[in-house]
Amino acid sequence: MSKKEHLDAVASEIIACTKCPLWKSRKNAVPGEGSPTSRMMFIGEAPGALEDTKGEPFVGMAGKFLDTLLSQAGWSREQVFITNVVKCRPPRNRQPKPLEIETCTPYLDRQISIIRPKFIVTLGSHSTSYVFSKAMLPFTSITQVRGKTYKTTILGLRLTVFPTFHPASALYNPEYKEILKRDFQLLGKKLPKMS
Ligand code: URA
Ligand code: SF4
Repeated sequence: MSKKEHLDAVASEIIACTKCPLWKSRKNAVPGEGSPTSRMMFIGEAPGALEDTKGEPFVGMAGKFLDTLLSQAGWSREQVFITNVVKCRPPRNRQPKPLEIETCTPYLDRQISIIRPKFIVTLGSHSTSYVFSKAMLPFTSITQVRGKTYKTTILGLRLTVFPTFHPASALYNPEYKEILKRDFQLLGKKLPKMS
Protein backbone atom coordinates (compact mmCIF):
# COMPACT_ATOMS: atom_id res chain seq x y z
CA MET A 1 0.00 0.00 0.00
CA SER A 2 1.15 3.56 -0.72
CA LYS A 3 1.51 6.24 1.96
CA LYS A 4 -1.72 7.76 0.68
CA GLU A 5 -3.61 4.50 1.05
CA HIS A 6 -2.28 4.01 4.58
CA LEU A 7 -3.25 7.59 5.50
CA ASP A 8 -6.70 7.15 3.97
CA ALA A 9 -7.18 4.02 6.09
CA VAL A 10 -6.31 5.97 9.26
CA ALA A 11 -8.64 8.80 8.18
CA SER A 12 -11.53 6.35 7.73
CA GLU A 13 -11.01 5.09 11.27
CA ILE A 14 -10.92 8.66 12.63
CA ILE A 15 -14.13 9.60 10.83
CA ALA A 16 -15.94 6.69 12.48
CA CYS A 17 -14.18 6.98 15.86
CA THR A 18 -16.11 6.99 19.15
CA LYS A 19 -13.15 6.32 21.46
CA CYS A 20 -13.43 9.54 23.50
CA PRO A 21 -16.49 11.67 24.37
CA LEU A 22 -15.67 14.34 21.77
CA TRP A 23 -17.37 12.29 19.05
CA LYS A 24 -20.77 13.11 20.56
CA SER A 25 -20.65 16.84 19.87
CA ARG A 26 -18.69 16.84 16.60
CA LYS A 27 -20.23 17.39 13.18
CA ASN A 28 -17.18 16.01 11.41
CA ALA A 29 -13.91 14.59 12.61
CA VAL A 30 -10.87 16.27 11.02
CA PRO A 31 -8.16 13.70 10.20
CA GLY A 32 -5.80 16.17 8.48
CA GLU A 33 -4.78 16.76 4.89
CA GLY A 34 -1.92 17.53 2.55
CA SER A 35 0.81 15.68 0.75
CA PRO A 36 1.38 12.10 1.99
CA THR A 37 4.99 12.33 0.81
CA SER A 38 5.74 15.70 2.41
CA ARG A 39 8.96 16.17 4.38
CA MET A 40 7.07 18.48 6.72
CA MET A 41 4.16 18.10 9.08
CA PHE A 42 2.34 20.91 10.88
CA ILE A 43 0.51 19.91 14.04
CA GLY A 44 -2.13 22.17 15.62
CA GLU A 45 -4.32 21.66 18.66
CA ALA A 46 -7.89 20.71 17.72
CA PRO A 47 -10.50 21.60 15.10
CA GLY A 48 -12.53 24.79 15.62
CA ALA A 49 -16.07 25.55 14.44
CA LEU A 50 -15.40 25.86 10.70
CA GLU A 51 -13.06 22.87 10.70
CA ASP A 52 -15.80 20.85 12.41
CA THR A 53 -18.32 21.95 9.76
CA LYS A 54 -16.02 21.19 6.83
CA GLY A 55 -14.01 18.25 8.15
CA GLU A 56 -10.81 20.03 7.08
CA PRO A 57 -7.96 21.38 9.22
CA PHE A 58 -7.14 25.09 9.56
CA VAL A 59 -9.83 26.52 7.29
CA GLY A 60 -11.04 29.28 9.67
CA MET A 61 -9.36 32.55 10.66
CA ALA A 62 -6.31 30.85 12.16
CA GLY A 63 -6.05 28.77 9.00
CA LYS A 64 -6.06 31.85 6.76
CA PHE A 65 -3.15 33.21 8.76
CA LEU A 66 -1.37 29.85 8.56
CA ASP A 67 -1.74 30.01 4.76
CA THR A 68 -0.08 33.44 4.77
CA LEU A 69 2.75 32.19 6.96
CA LEU A 70 3.28 29.13 4.74
CA SER A 71 3.43 31.21 1.58
CA GLN A 72 5.89 33.64 3.18
CA ALA A 73 8.12 30.66 3.92
CA GLY A 74 7.78 29.60 0.28
CA TRP A 75 5.39 26.66 0.64
CA SER A 76 1.82 25.91 -0.29
CA ARG A 77 -0.66 23.88 1.75
CA GLU A 78 -0.57 21.10 -0.84
CA GLN A 79 3.16 20.60 -0.27
CA VAL A 80 2.89 19.98 3.47
CA PHE A 81 0.73 17.83 5.72
CA ILE A 82 -1.44 19.60 8.30
CA THR A 83 -3.20 17.94 11.21
CA ASN A 84 -4.02 18.32 14.91
CA VAL A 85 -3.30 16.58 18.20
CA VAL A 86 -7.02 15.91 18.70
CA LYS A 87 -9.19 15.17 15.66
CA CYS A 88 -12.63 16.27 16.93
CA ARG A 89 -13.71 19.74 18.06
CA PRO A 90 -13.93 20.25 21.82
CA PRO A 91 -17.25 21.92 22.75
CA ARG A 92 -17.09 25.75 22.68
CA ASN A 93 -13.43 25.44 21.58
CA ARG A 94 -12.25 24.59 25.08
CA GLN A 95 -8.80 23.06 25.40
CA PRO A 96 -8.58 19.32 24.85
CA LYS A 97 -8.48 17.33 28.11
CA PRO A 98 -5.55 15.04 28.94
CA LEU A 99 -7.70 11.93 28.50
CA GLU A 100 -8.89 13.12 25.07
CA ILE A 101 -5.28 13.74 24.02
CA GLU A 102 -4.21 10.35 25.33
CA THR A 103 -7.07 8.59 23.54
CA CYS A 104 -6.65 10.40 20.22
CA THR A 105 -2.89 10.64 19.76
CA PRO A 106 -2.37 7.03 18.60
CA TYR A 107 -3.91 8.34 15.33
CA LEU A 108 -1.36 11.16 15.17
CA ASP A 109 1.46 8.71 15.91
CA ARG A 110 0.29 6.51 13.04
CA GLN A 111 0.16 9.51 10.69
CA ILE A 112 3.71 10.46 11.66
CA SER A 113 4.91 6.88 11.18
CA ILE A 114 3.35 6.70 7.70
CA ILE A 115 4.53 10.11 6.46
CA ARG A 116 8.00 9.85 8.05
CA PRO A 117 8.57 13.63 7.96
CA LYS A 118 12.02 15.18 8.30
CA PHE A 119 10.55 18.21 10.01
CA ILE A 120 7.65 18.66 12.42
CA VAL A 121 6.37 22.16 13.18
CA THR A 122 4.33 22.18 16.37
CA LEU A 123 1.79 25.00 16.63
CA GLY A 124 1.07 25.99 20.21
CA SER A 125 1.63 24.43 23.59
CA HIS A 126 -0.53 21.29 23.33
CA SER A 127 1.11 20.08 20.18
CA THR A 128 4.58 21.05 21.40
CA SER A 129 4.16 19.41 24.77
CA TYR A 130 2.92 16.19 23.14
CA VAL A 131 5.74 16.00 20.60
CA PHE A 132 8.36 16.96 23.21
CA SER A 133 7.16 14.18 25.50
CA LYS A 134 7.49 11.67 22.64
CA ALA A 135 11.00 12.98 22.02
CA MET A 136 11.81 12.94 25.74
CA LEU A 137 12.66 16.63 25.56
CA PRO A 138 11.79 18.76 28.59
CA PHE A 139 8.83 21.06 27.89
CA THR A 140 8.75 24.21 29.99
CA SER A 141 6.50 26.65 28.16
CA ILE A 142 5.86 27.45 24.52
CA THR A 143 7.35 30.92 25.04
CA GLN A 144 10.61 29.40 26.28
CA VAL A 145 11.05 26.63 23.72
CA ARG A 146 9.70 28.22 20.50
CA GLY A 147 11.68 29.48 17.53
CA LYS A 148 14.47 26.88 17.74
CA THR A 149 15.19 23.59 16.03
CA TYR A 150 15.48 20.37 18.05
CA LYS A 151 17.12 17.38 16.34
CA THR A 152 15.58 14.35 17.94
CA THR A 153 14.06 10.87 17.57
CA ILE A 154 10.31 10.30 17.62
CA LEU A 155 8.69 6.90 17.02
CA GLY A 156 12.07 5.66 15.84
CA LEU A 157 12.41 8.46 13.25
CA ARG A 158 15.29 10.93 13.22
CA LEU A 159 13.81 14.35 12.57
CA THR A 160 13.83 18.01 13.54
CA VAL A 161 11.11 19.62 15.63
CA PHE A 162 10.42 23.34 15.40
CA PRO A 163 7.89 24.71 17.91
CA THR A 164 6.16 28.02 17.43
CA PHE A 165 3.04 29.80 18.67
CA HIS A 166 -0.40 28.73 17.56
CA PRO A 167 -1.57 30.93 14.63
CA ALA A 168 -4.83 31.62 16.53
CA SER A 169 -2.83 33.38 19.24
CA ALA A 170 -1.75 35.95 16.65
CA LEU A 171 -5.36 36.92 16.03
CA TYR A 172 -5.51 38.50 19.49
CA ASN A 173 -1.89 39.43 20.06
CA PRO A 174 0.03 41.58 17.54
CA GLU A 175 3.32 40.74 19.23
CA TYR A 176 2.77 37.00 18.66
CA LYS A 177 1.88 37.76 15.06
CA GLU A 178 5.29 39.32 14.45
CA ILE A 179 7.04 36.45 16.25
CA LEU A 180 5.17 33.89 14.14
CA LYS A 181 6.15 35.71 10.95
CA ARG A 182 9.78 35.69 12.03
CA ASP A 183 9.63 32.01 13.01
CA PHE A 184 8.24 31.06 9.60
CA GLN A 185 10.83 33.19 7.81
CA LEU A 186 13.49 31.30 9.74
CA LEU A 187 11.86 28.00 8.79
CA GLY A 188 11.81 28.97 5.12
CA LYS A 189 15.55 29.64 5.28
CA LYS A 190 16.40 26.50 7.24
CA LEU A 191 14.41 23.96 5.33
CA PRO A 192 16.09 23.96 1.93
CA LYS A 193 19.35 23.13 3.76
CA MET A 194 18.06 20.06 5.46
CA SER A 195 17.14 16.86 3.61
N1 URA B 1 -6.88 25.50 15.37
C1 URA B 1 -6.24 24.32 15.40
O1 URA B 1 -5.45 24.03 16.28
N2 URA B 1 -6.51 23.46 14.43
C2 URA B 1 -7.35 23.71 13.44
O2 URA B 1 -7.52 22.84 12.59
C3 URA B 1 -7.99 24.96 13.43
C4 URA B 1 -7.76 25.84 14.40
FE1 SF4 C 1 -11.82 9.56 18.40
FE2 SF4 C 1 -9.97 11.43 18.59
FE3 SF4 C 1 -12.45 12.11 17.93
FE4 SF4 C 1 -11.90 11.34 20.40
S1 SF4 C 1 -11.12 13.17 19.39
S2 SF4 C 1 -13.64 10.65 19.15
S3 SF4 C 1 -10.32 9.77 20.06
S4 SF4 C 1 -11.04 10.83 16.72
